[in-house]
Amino acid sequence: MDTLFSKVTAVLPDGSVKNNAYVGVGAGIITYVGSEPPAEAALAVIDGTNKVLSPGLVNAHTHLPMTLLRGFADDMDLQTWLFEHIFPAEDKLTGELVYTGSLLALMECIASGTTSVSDMYFFESDVARAVAESGMKANLCRPFQGLENHETRLREATEMIEQYHGYDNGRILIDASVHAEYTSSPAIWEAAVRLASENHLRMHTHLSETAREHSECVAKYGMTPAAVFDRYGLFSVPVTAAHCVHVTDGDIVILAERGATAVHNPVSNLKLNSGVARVREWQKGGVNAALGTDGAASNNSLDLFEEMKAAAILASGENPLTAAGSLRLATVNGAVSQGRKSGQIAEGCDADLILLDFDKPHLLPLHNVISSLVYSARGSDVCLTMVSGKILYRDGEFLTIDRERVLRGARKAACIF
Ligand SMILES: [Zn+2]
Repeated sequence: MDTLFSKVTAVLPDGSVKNNAYVGVGAGIITYVGSEPPAEAALAVIDGTNKVLSPGLVNAHTHLPMTLLRGFADDMDLQTWLFEHIFPAEDKLTGELVYTGSLLALMECIASGTTSVSDMYFFESDVARAVAESGMKANLCRPFQGLENHETRLREATEMIEQYHGYDNGRILIDASVHAEYTSSPAIWEAAVRLASENHLRMHTHLSETAREHSECVAKYGMTPAAVFDRYGLFSVPVTAAHCVHVTDGDIVILAERGATAVHNPVSNLKLNSGVARVREWQKGGVNAALGTDGAASNNSLDLFEEMKAAAILASGENPLTAAGSLRLATVNGAVSQGRKSGQIAEGCDADLILLDFDKPHLLPLHNVISSLVYSARGSDVCLTMVSGKILYRDGEFLTIDRERVLRGARKAACIF
């Protein structure tokens, strides 16, 4: 056994907790969960007194390099924000800037308890370079979009697959991607589906984020974005669909029948005035619901603790999501969307774990651990982040990323916009 968390409060898969638990890790996998110390000795023992051990959080939809545009254009709706501010700024990005922005994002993720992300951006090989160095898990994609020559996108994707799909024992996976219905065309969808089918990839897309894109699609094709994607075979592979704010009941049936994941991005959706997604309706319809921050340009944080709290509070009506339900969105459901055996503290699962220091004024008294985790804890309460058994962050120290170099690069990058 490599590492043993001892006398810790462990969050279990059924939403209960085990106090004074022992959780052992070996070869990147959780090998022991019990109330007594394991028979096998561990190379390192981590004292969990007054600490909570949770599965690491999964950010199922983000754009890591957009940290460089954090606070760049705020207080406007999505159309204005995207077309008048973000797209022109993104034209100035280079591979090196994307690399720096990704490392900055990964530092924020790791320090706030995220152990895996699903990222969609361009210069994605530079995102992959940053993820590879960081030790983080990620599903990465370069979206097909526009009227551009998709041969170029196919060549890029093929190179990404060859270099990074399955990298470091599956720590990095490459997904196929269509950016969104409103930014692409049927020929591009078909090319992306072919790429996914031939290479056994998952698919990542934006779906019905705003009322406008949804109704314009209905006017153009006589079908909703989900229905038209289904017509062109997009859901023949496992799909992660971000936002889904304006999906209809019929769309929910399509998503459920095709085994897709819908990603809830409550803070970004509220900030860009896109609306509030019907997460409980997705779930009642049998859709796997996960949680994401979206990019830092529309959030403006990558802290999934904020996102969990927002998700739970926004769905607090007659059929509430609950704190435990929100935690599931951010853990095991996110792992399902990425095709990974993770997101739970159970023997045989990947050792993607976070330890939170609960010996703090805003976390006491401790009546209900799960409620405190979702409603009171902050990303900054994370004191240790482990991915596949490897510690990436401990007591404020980044063990895989040169903090000063990245912060220096981020300050410099701000000057180009
Ligand atoms: Zn997005």
